[in-house]
Amino acid sequence: TRAYLTAMEQARTLNAYVLETPEVAVARAEESDQRLAKGEAGALEGMPLGVKDLFCTEGVRTTACSRILDGFVPPYESHVTERMRKAGAVMLGKLNNDEFAMGSSNETSCFGAPINPWRRKGSDAQLVAGGSSGGSAAAVAGRICLGATATDTGGSIRQPAAFTGTVGVKPTYGRCSRWGIVAFASSLDQAGPIARDVRDAAIMLGAMAGFDPRDSTSVDREVPDYEAAVGRSVKGLRIGIPREYRVDGMPAEIEALWTRGAEQLKAAGAEIVEISLPHTKYALPAYYIVAPAEASSNLARYDGVRYGLRVPGRDVTEMYENTRAQGFGAEVRRRVMIGAYVLSAGYYDAYYVRAQKVRTLIKRDFETVFADGVDAILTPATPSAAFGVGEMSNASPVEMYLNDVFTVTVNMAGLPGISVPAGLSAEGLPLALQLIGRPFDEETLFATGAVIE
Ligand code: GLN
Repeated sequence: TRAYLTAMEQARTLNAYVLETPEVAVARAEESDQRLAKGEAGALEGMPLGVKDLFCTEGVRTTACSRILDGFVPPYESHVTERMRKAGAVMLGKLNNDEFAMGSSNETSCFGAPINPWRRKGSDAQLVAGGSSGGSAAAVAGRICLGATATDTGGSIRQPAAFTGTVGVKPTYGRCSRWGIVAFASSLDQAGPIARDVRDAAIMLGAMAGFDPRDSTSVDREVPDYEAAVGRSVKGLRIGIPREYRVDGMPAEIEALWTRGAEQLKAAGAEIVEISLPHTKYALPAYYIVAPAEASSNLARYDGVRYGLRVPGRDVTEMYENTRAQGFGAEVRRRVMIGAYVLSAGYYDAYYVRAQKVRTLIKRDFETVFADGVDAILTPATPSAAFGVGEMSNASPVEMYLNDVFTVTVNMAGLPGISVPAGLSAEGLPLALQLIGRPFDEETLFATGAVIE
């Protein structure tokens, strides 16, 4: 723990942590030492880990990297971090993310973007760590924590993991409790780990997952021994390659990475089959209706009365307006406006209801393929490697949203997905593949992911 605390001080230019908590870390490490001395050890005993600033941590400032939560100190702990603590985890601090987890580059954070420790060959230009869990990914890749919590609503665990050469797991919806995690889009949000390798991710998820009656969508199902799945044979597994993911303009090196991944699984005894997920092309547009709709509803609670920031006005209405205008950044305001629009009378059926129907079709595509005996689906994780800080600042929001083209389908269908580093780009940056599994079959993702990493 002390070595990590020193490393964190030396790596502050990464801007991965938005709050370092050395006192908490040292106190927990000492508790851990005492348990170890008594021969008691949880699955994460003494492990120095980082926590995305979207997880409420009792007595420790939690902001979701938004000015509107300025100074908010939760009086309670999220279920996931509470479980990790019981398993012996040591919290080093709170990690940067896009404001309310809305973004793909972590540049919407009120603390500024974390910096990817990787560089393009022959260049020292700073690159983004992806988003929204960019702080978690930068910290794991930068070796200033052993692993980190993250959340994924449309790709926010898997895309930053892909950009930083780390492993990210988005579990099945309901696998981890959302209780105490700042809500973005409640029907899509899931917590999961970002870790150095597949085994670490499996160990971490084992400690994070589990039933919680305080989240009505949390599922009461035993948590398997995920670590035991790492190294398990993939012989005889059927791996689907969805033809709809071969999108126009896919860079040749991503295409080659995908083919090589399939060959590795085949060499390990899996059977590779071509499959079709016909509604894939509607996933991104439908996601960008459903997610803002739920966000606009979830973010209604930030009114200057209950949490954090309050900007006064002549009356209560003006106080709300001033607080929300100054407290929310541009991307969050855009989502709230889109969400309020698609939920409004007259547009609800045309947009929101239509998007929900599309969501059902996307889910059915996967159900059909799994019913045909496919065990897991292999796709690229992202359409490109990490891009430069500020490089997308003049691009339209839609261009940024295209980062999520391979990841959002998984959230729309509630399935588990893993992003695994699979090679380097010509410029020397990490590239990753994604594996998508049946509901609650994270084990197959750990088994197949370990073959590729
Ligand atoms: N990039 C996506 C968005 O901005 C996904 C974010 C996430 O998964 N939290 O909505």
